[in-house]
Amino acid sequence: MTSLYQEQREADGRTETGETLVEVNDLKTYYEDGGLLGGDPVKAVDGVTFDIQRGETLGLVGESGCGKSTLGRTLMQLETATGGEVRYEGTDITSLSGSDLKDWRRNVQMVFQDPDGSLNDRMTVGEIVMEPLNVHNWKTPEQRRARVRELLETVGLSEEHYYRYPFQFSGGQRQRVGIARALALEPDFLVLDEPVSALDVSVQAKILNLLEDLQEEFGLTYLLIAHDLAVVEHICDRVAVMYLGNIMEIGPTDAIFDDPANPYTNSLLSAIPEPDPTLEKNRITLRGTPPSPRDPPSGCVFSTRCPLKIRPPAYRDLDEDVWQGIEIFREVLREREDVAKSVRERFRDLLGMETEGLDAEEVVEEAFGDLDVPSDVQQHVDSAIEHVRRDDLQSAREELREEFGSVCEREEPELLTVGDAGRQSHCHRHREDYQGTQSYIAEHGYER
Ligand code: ADP
Ligand code: MG
Repeated sequence: MTSLYQEQREADGRTETGETLVEVNDLKTYYEDGGLLGGDPVKAVDGVTFDIQRGETLGLVGESGCGKSTLGRTLMQLETATGGEVRYEGTDITSLSGSDLKDWRRNVQMVFQDPDGSLNDRMTVGEIVMEPLNVHNWKTPEQRRARVRELLETVGLSEEHYYRYPFQFSGGQRQRVGIARALALEPDFLVLDEPVSALDVSVQAKILNLLEDLQEEFGLTYLLIAHDLAVVEHICDRVAVMYLGNIMEIGPTDAIFDDPANPYTNSLLSAIPEPDPTLEKNRITLRGTPPSPRDPPSGCVFSTRCPLKIRPPAYRDLDEDVWQGIEIFREVLREREDVAKSVRERFRDLLGMETEGLDAEEVVEEAFGDLDVPSDVQQHVDSAIEHVRRDDLQSAREELREEFGSVCEREEPELLTVGDAGRQSHCHRHREDYQGTQSYIAEHGYER
């Protein structure tokens, strides 16, 4: 029996390379706490919109915990979307269920970072690769065995591996088994979640080459999740840069690497060690840690750490070091409140905990050193210190936000097209009324 999904797919016929295969609109995936204490959900993916073209490799990069795996898993329907849609060949798959969902799943597969954890050590390699064929009742048992032998060869293993167990294999070989299993049902689209991160560098290149060969041979479409930017630069057609559940910038790989538009992309790229240390580079180091995805910043999600944050008009000419001192002080307060909050969430009402003490004066001394701080700035900083003394971090933060906050904290930046390379980025600096990212970096010569 063919499902509705299958019928529609056959009626439409297969689409050509270059057409949109996956269309993601304002997708959100939240994890409810589920515990006894309630609390805000983790906004792992918080409203992302992008397309994946048939036959391309789209890279997805960003620091650990920014939501890459959750996004990949939601595209596979291994995670239920909280909002928005995922269209696959035009069909919104977030609303599929039953046999339609099972049918659709044949088209998409996932390869995981950890080949050890994702392969059952009690099954032979042959059984592991055959499992999806059994689940989908694919052809006859004899044809399945033949298919498995063929798949092992396709990924560079041989027939003699059929009856071995995963633990008898090296990391690279285990990843080949994972890839063979993913290919069993002839999928069109693969989510590769850090497929080489757990492997030795020499083995990484071999697996990446294999993935590229397979893509060409079978016309596959990839979403390649990686934290190693070199991997992405090497094999992706386009790259999406993620931060705190949002896509900050997306565009052709060359444009992203050679001329990043978004301040977050800039800082991510400047963390890559320069092979030639004599080459001058405007290095940007991020202060602090990413905010909690339970309580993301208002406005631009990167605003609490952005070294290029737009200043309010009254402080546009303030000395750069004094401005950075204010930013550091604000970031320390935010981190302290995050910590206090998570502690409070866990022990709320149980222990009657006090907010942890914080010597704000020391922080301020550290942040400003012997800089000449103008009196209007000093006045607000002193007032914030007073709030901290009374254990009122929230009022301290509000005081500083009121005075030193800007459009970056008040308005969510739109997704704007930057340049002519087909790149899009979320940043207020792309608006005409503000100085652009690269020109700002050039002027300030970042080396922090
Ligand atoms: P990445 O793959 O970029 O490292 P993840 O998608 O794994 O990020 O995680 C994004 C956020 O969601 C993190 O804050 C993580 O702690 C949280 N998270 C991931 N999986 C779950 C889950 N099953 N339940 C609750 N929170 C989760
Ligand atoms: Mg991950």
